Amino acid sequence: MKITVIGTGYVGLVTGVVLSDLGHQVTCLDIDKQKINLLKQGISPIYEPGLEELINKNIQRQLISFTIDKQEAFSTAEVIFIAVGTPQSEQGAADLSYVEQAVKDIASTVDHDVIVVMKSTVPIGTGDWVENTLHSHKSSNINFYIVSNPEFLREGFALQDSYNGDRIVIGAQEEHAGNTVQALFNGLKVPVIRTNRRSAEMIKYASNAFLAVKISYINEIANLCEKLDVNVLEVADGMGADRRIGRSFLNPGIGYGGSCFPKDTEAIAYLGREHNAPLTIVESTIKANQRQRELFFEKVIDYFGGVLKGKTIGLLGLAFKPNTDDLREAPSLYLIEQLKRHGATVKAYDPIVKHLEECVDSIEEATQAVDAILLVTEWKEFVNLDIEDTKIFDGRYVLKPQGMYSIL
Ligand code: NAD
Repeated sequence: MKITVIGTGYVGLVTGVVLSDLGHQVTCLDIDKQKINLLKQGISPIYEPGLEELINKNIQRQLISFTIDKQEAFSTAEVIFIAVGTPQSEQGAADLSYVEQAVKDIASTVDHDVIVVMKSTVPIGTGDWVENTLHSHKSSNINFYIVSNPEFLREGFALQDSYNGDRIVIGAQEEHAGNTVQALFNGLKVPVIRTNRRSAEMIKYASNAFLAVKISYINEIANLCEKLDVNVLEVADGMGADRRIGRSFLNPGIGYGGSCFPKDTEAIAYLGREHNAPLTIVESTIKANQRQRELFFEKVIDYFGGVLKGKTIGLLGLAFKPNTDDLREAPSLYLIEQLKRHGATVKAYDPIVKHLEECVDSIEEATQAVDAILLVTEWKEFVNLDIEDTKIFDGRYVLKPQGMYSIL
């Protein structure tokens, strides 16, 4: 089918590339000229294992193209995916301004029947709003069918998750539109769950919030384990062996970051407050997550007797998790800010992120002639770190299973 994807970020680009790889004719539209210029040359603007190869393969097959021209992108599209950002607004709600702009663009440009698929994570009822907006703009008797198809990929495993994910959720009000969207994914080994549109929107938020709860839960258990001289990793293994609980997302550390969990927990908590159905567990999760990075920093400053001025701190890992270059809401940014505010010099190394002024070129540079080392992201490069004479604060429990704040 002829598909247009609006937004070539982590989700839109992966969606476009995977759909082209399945044989569809895909046009990727973005407002960012620089991204589109890179993509036209077969260069991926984001780091995602295997993605660049797949972009080039499908450029050669002439199944994918990139443009900033709306007219060109929409003129023959049968299905349009919206995959623009939905960041956090000041009040905590999802900021829908990019989605609104994308919808306006569709309304002003599309002159034929089309299925609009919402891939962006959006508050419950957004699909209804899109439907009303498009229908009120339509010039003659054009039909728009709005389908929710939330994305569950993990950055760093985006292709793996697209081809072998746990589920594809398709929320549609019209069965034929849901069937068409489902057929787009034929060829993927992923079970499909069909729901109505609002349920699909809620599944995404409820899932992300639940995973965040799991992380904050094990982090608080870890803090207690540390006080009681208990190895939390053994506890996590013991808990995780229970199939009702599961081992994944029971990895203690300095808390979650990234472009999804922080904003999605805030957005669903906001919805709970707005509709007088408070999500107290999610509210606590958000607080516990913030506290976790503060606690880590307090351990560091306490070790230096409250004085960081004149100290040099090596930071290992900047991305919010391994295998991505994404820095959004990364705990590393909070730590750098705090360390510098207290007068420390920071030497940071990350295998992929290289553009911050604190970046140095090698693990050695970040770990030699420093007063302490903070392990912030569990890249595999750091797992076998062999350093004897410098204090390491292991924020991810990868070096010494005994504890996050182990003194080496
Ligand atoms: P992103 O910020 O990486 O990419 C968004 C892209 O949309 C940018 O390239 C931007 O230039 C473009 N854009 C904005 N407005 C546009 C417009 N009017 N026309 C064309 N392009 C436009 O965002 P992302 O991380 O890919 O996230 C997109 C959505 O998917 C969000 O709602 C997010 O919550 C959700 N999501 C993200 C992930 C993830 O791991 N990143 C996973 C699941 C769901």
